[in-house]
Amino acid sequence: MFYSRYAPIGEKFAVPAIPNDFNNAKVTVFNTELNTQLGLNWNLETAQYYLSGSRPLPGAQSVCLAYSGHQFGQFNPTLGDGRAHLIGSFKARDRETFDIQLKGSGATVFSRGGDGLCALGPAIREFVMSKALLSLGVPSTQCLAVLSTGDSVYRQGELPGAVVARVAHSHIRVGSFQYLAVQQDSEAMLKLLELAMKDVGLESNGLAEEDIFSFFQFVCDAQCDLILKWLQVGFIHGVMNTDNTLINGETIDYGPCAMMESFSFNRVFSSIDRQGRYAFGQQPNMASWNCGRLAESLLLLIEDEQVAIERFSKILAGFSERFNQGYKQLWHNKLGLLDEQPGDQDLITALLEVMTRHELDFTNTFASLTAIKINRQQLQYPIPPELDEWVNKWKARIQDHESSEVAAVMQQHNPAIIPRNDVLEEVIRDFYQYGNSDILDSWLEALSVPYNYDNYPEKWLLSQTNTKSY
Ligand code: AMP
Ligand code: MG
Ligand code: MG
Repeated sequence: MFYSRYAPIGEKFAVPAIPNDFNNAKVTVFNTELNTQLGLNWNLETAQYYLSGSRPLPGAQSVCLAYSGHQFGQFNPTLGDGRAHLIGSFKARDRETFDIQLKGSGATVFSRGGDGLCALGPAIREFVMSKALLSLGVPSTQCLAVLSTGDSVYRQGELPGAVVARVAHSHIRVGSFQYLAVQQDSEAMLKLLELAMKDVGLESNGLAEEDIFSFFQFVCDAQCDLILKWLQVGFIHGVMNTDNTLINGETIDYGPCAMMESFSFNRVFSSIDRQGRYAFGQQPNMASWNCGRLAESLLLLIEDEQVAIERFSKILAGFSERFNQGYKQLWHNKLGLLDEQPGDQDLITALLEVMTRHELDFTNTFASLTAIKINRQQLQYPIPPELDEWVNKWKARIQDHESSEVAAVMQQHNPAIIPRNDVLEEVIRDFYQYGNSDILDSWLEALSVPYNYDNYPEKWLLSQTNTKSY
């Protein structure tokens, strides 16, 4: 049932590696829904022995993958899975391919002095954030389980250790191509390209040069669409390095990510991002920049470099066009503007300006506008007074639209609930203290229907750090 999808690319790329055997590991969070959906149908005991590294998946050899990466703009030729093991791939019930990767499963040849481990807090964060983002309609890798290992890891202090079992359609990154480009290994890169194209459902024509351009076009489109989704829901990834950029356009690596609360295009969460390279509003530029690094790597496979550079540049220019189109549509959707009228841009800019000046909460502001249209305003989403004047202009703008249509579009694009950091921190604190969390299950249930405006407990809706306008 399982197999080793990356083995044909070669042992330098998919390096055989055995995960730690954590004898005392226990599954502490399990994604039952995903387990069923994938057709794995594991019980907790089965999950425990495969995901704790106690037994290999039948038919598959565990590997860690090599990759390079531009980290905050600096190129590092040898990154790779320093604390992860890809234990096997399989075809799910719907015939789609998935990889299972353990993270925090021990040191590898790529650990570079790191301990290869993961603390429980970040593991829970990845589980919650990936699940919530998917429910928000954002493509993402998923988590099947979090296991506590019973061992300690040492960061600022001693913390309980964990393994995250990640499930993803693919683990091919921009950095994977960069790695083979550094190695000047065109043979391996062709095999990677073939696999990557298959992953995303692209037909290849004998891996001719034209295939390379179609592939690049696909990656650019997928990245562009992903970023538009992030912006729609206020997600800040935080580490958009080329090694954290999957070619299939799924979100991967939930390190210092967060949902934006008070609105600003300059909002940053990662303490290491001092320049604001990956700030909320920089994300489209950075995704396009990352695609540029993929193009450079693909040059290895192309005869006439000059012609290729022209083609790639043209495709990259298309990224901006596609983005600008989608970006305009995004605000129209969030505000229920069903057609285009002169003055729309000014109306949108004015709103964002007030939101920035008064540090209004991104989600709650749009939810409060949506609540007007779906007649729930009195319940949980009062309009902040700073917006009164603007709201009158907006109401005048949409008065000719069918109200139910406006309501439907707004509700589809403005979540009522998002995975806020303060709740997440509370969940993580519970796990550190008690080994479980009382609120996790009910919170996850609410997060699974984020566009439903009915009956969310108050405490999940308002950020404790940003309630001043409400
Ligand atoms: P990230 O910033 O999470 O994308 O990680 C960048 C690189 O650092 C990857 O090669 C990781 O495998 C590696 N890495 C991160 N944390 C650790 C750790 N605790 N031990 C070993 N390698 C790590
Ligand atoms: Mg990473
Ligand atoms: Mg990370």
